Amino acid sequence: PRLHIGLTGGIASGKSTVAAELARRGAVVVDADAIARAVVAAGSPGLARVREEFGEQVIGPDGEMDRAAVARLVFSDADARERLNAIIHPLVRAEGRRVVEQAGPEAVVVQDVPLLVETGQASLYDLVLVVLADAEERVARMVRDRGMDEDEARARIAAQATDEQRRAAADVVIVNDAGLEDLIRTTGRFWEAYVEPVLRGEQPEPE
Ligand code: ATP
Repeated sequence: PRLHIGLTGGIASGKSTVAAELARRGAVVVDADAIARAVVAAGSPGLARVREEFGEQVIGPDGEMDRAAVARLVFSDADARERLNAIIHPLVRAEGRRVVEQAGPEAVVVQDVPLLVETGQASLYDLVLVVLADAEERVARMVRDRGMDEDEARARIAAQATDEQRRAAADVVIVNDAGLEDLIRTTGRFWEAYVEPVLRGEQPEPE
């Protein structure tokens, strides 16, 4: 790609909204969650490997991976978790690389990676873009939009990297502390300041 952007931020911080606006402006968006699902889709070689390792119990009646069953298996068993990750992580990395290659040399690729900071992947990207949002706002959104209870929402946030860790890994930070229109406008300014100069063959503007 011409420019490979890693996009990250905590749960319900506004990543998908930012990604959608970057896509509207011409970026190819690669969604890490979608790739993680695809590598163990029904009938995939990845799912066959998981079945070899853990047995029929991981396959649901529809032939899809039974995520709840897998989660139970690895929840309190670090060894099982490692064996699962040893199957899935290399497949996710390889498929991610394939999708990014396929976008071509001229593309601006935005890879939405929820755990980019947690998994220490900043160096894989030309630019790391972090979306930050107030934790209480994020809890309110998870409760309102996803029917999550408040304790669960707080636990999800607590299990992820802190804003300080995300800032330390970021090249550019978008603070999502106003309305959606404002977030989309800020994303547009990011595109104009950091992406357009690269497309014109200039250096990006300094901070
Ligand atoms: P996840 O990590 O769970 O995939 P995300 O970081 O991709 O979440 P979004 O899906 O973009 O976050 O946003 C979460 C929800 O909050 C969406 O319903 C979105 O419309 C809403 N939202 C995000 N930012 C704002 C805002 N500034 N004002 C109002 N609603 C917002």
